[in-house]
Amino acid sequence: MNKERIKTNFYEAVNGDWLEKAEIPGDQPSVSAFLELHLGIEETLMGLTSKWEKDQTELNHNLNKYIKLYQMTKDFDKRNELGTKPFEVILNKINQLNGLKDLDKVFKNLTLESIEMPFGFSVMQDFMNSNNQILYFSAANLFLPDTSYYKDETKKAQLIGLFTMTTKQLLSLYGFSKEEVDKLISEALAFDALLVPVTKSSIEKADYVKMYNPLSKEDVQKLTKNFDIMANAEALVEQPVDQLIFTNLDFIRAFDTIITDKNFEIIKSWMIVSNAIKFSADLTDDIRVAGGAFSRALSGTKEPQSKDKFAFYQAYNRFGQVVGLHYGETYFGPVAKEDVNVMVHEMIDVYQERIAGNTWLNEKTKEKAIKKLSTLTVHVGYPDELPPYFDRFEIKGYEQGSDLIQERLAMTKIINIYNFEKYNQEPNRNIWGMPASMVNAYYSPFNNQIVFPAAILQEPYYSLKQSPSENFGGIGAVIAHEISHAFDNNGAKFDETGSLNDWWTEADLKSFNKKSKDMITLFDGVETGFGECNGELTVSENIADSGGLRCALEASKKNDSHNFDDFFQNWARVWRNKSSVEYSQLLLKVDVHGPSILRANMQLSNVPEFQDFYEINEKDKMYLPKEKMVSIW
Ligand SMILES: [Zn+2]
Repeated sequence: MNKERIKTNFYEAVNGDWLEKAEIPGDQPSVSAFLELHLGIEETLMGLTSKWEKDQTELNHNLNKYIKLYQMTKDFDKRNELGTKPFEVILNKINQLNGLKDLDKVFKNLTLESIEMPFGFSVMQDFMNSNNQILYFSAANLFLPDTSYYKDETKKAQLIGLFTMTTKQLLSLYGFSKEEVDKLISEALAFDALLVPVTKSSIEKADYVKMYNPLSKEDVQKLTKNFDIMANAEALVEQPVDQLIFTNLDFIRAFDTIITDKNFEIIKSWMIVSNAIKFSADLTDDIRVAGGAFSRALSGTKEPQSKDKFAFYQAYNRFGQVVGLHYGETYFGPVAKEDVNVMVHEMIDVYQERIAGNTWLNEKTKEKAIKKLSTLTVHVGYPDELPPYFDRFEIKGYEQGSDLIQERLAMTKIINIYNFEKYNQEPNRNIWGMPASMVNAYYSPFNNQIVFPAAILQEPYYSLKQSPSENFGGIGAVIAHEISHAFDNNGAKFDETGSLNDWWTEADLKSFNKKSKDMITLFDGVETGFGECNGELTVSENIADSGGLRCALEASKKNDSHNFDDFFQNWARVWRNKSSVEYSQLLLKVDVHGPSILRANMQLSNVPEFQDFYEINEKDKMYLPKEKMVSIW
């Protein structure tokens, strides 16, 4: 590595060759270490899928259904022949509505089929008591990805223009006349505009606790006279409901001025447009391509997925956990599972030691933090159990007069019935939130649980061929990152059982909040080449990265063969990333993760050992004075 480059831009020093050569695939907005693994798995799974299609004798019944659905999704001749006919069932449901009274009558059914409506319910764990699951209520999403786009007049005009152009093309493929298309789009945008002032920004949404606003049945009934929200809630869960959690109080306070019979015409147009976009994936080749045009333009993705890939994902996205379990069991054996389990526990031990030696926490708070660590549950590789709804799926196929929209509605209904049945029930903590074949990992604050799918446990994150220090700088730091989420600005508010509980002493909380603010300051406004980083939006992930990096470094240092160079280089390697300009700018607005270059460089500058090892001084760009360094965990 070039010595000068190390001191000016470590990320480029490590990834220079890669950055020069890497090409963003045409159907992707970016390429990265994450995406390279994802593409490898995609190839494996697509290969398996074609093999299974030819010989289904050894498949379990859920994989059988997956293949049956895949045969439907890949049959573009049939899809083109059916045209927009399958969408009529949805259009008819919407066209029959003449006011809020009509909507009230069909609300439960449309909810169970996940047909887009202006507001809706979901069942999730109770923040206050993670052993119970309760009902949350929220408004629909906006057409643009964040409220900030509506505040900037130039950006808004540009993106609404883009939305209008791509949606016009889509709706005309659905067969609407030019007059109908113009009316639908202008009315849908008029309703979208009503939602903007009562929608939270990505920055506001990043603060979990602010999303939890309980209102009693009486309060809800006082606030909303135009539509019986409580009666619909009770119909969905088939039980009495005494309170709802609102993710946004502004919306419910404005409910009776937005959701009115006077506005019903624009609500209806909004529903037609939103559902035309949503179900475009299930129709002809032209329509599925047109349906993705807006999001491709937003993310700077050059071309749509090939028909083959699209068909694969359409089936896989429904059966991801089923296919993922096969992937995990086949490609990630018990030996690797044990190996990673050992690493995770090693990292938890280091974390405990660090908390025990912490200088800014009171002994009582330390004890609680150690308790939270020692009760953390860890899931590695693949789950022991899948959600039961796959067993209830039934794929009929074209020969029985079915089509992709009918299949989708039927599967969605089964999943939603299962979800609403969870109301007032204890959660099943064995069920994972992502397939084992997904290159990712997560921490759930409600379960105090970390999950590492088999897919991420590969080079450059982890390999037996890499040195221990490289593995610590890769998967070790990822593991410690997930553990750190238990103590980031969101996670720290939940106790060891996963419930919102103030387990901090006042003084400790004050110090923690000060440190979180310092982390915001460290990243806020830092130029990335595509715009500035938003310190507030990314604070929880930056705290997790910082804790993860320091903890993994400590674990690596304990190892006899520890090598700083290997460790720091692999940390920078796992963040290699090349994105389109549009995608980079979009992520700066909506992604809670910091931009890759800062995840590599800023986090390293913030570590004293890094500065010392490469002899970085105040003349160097990678330099950060010790008094500006932020150390939380
Ligand atoms: Zn994270």
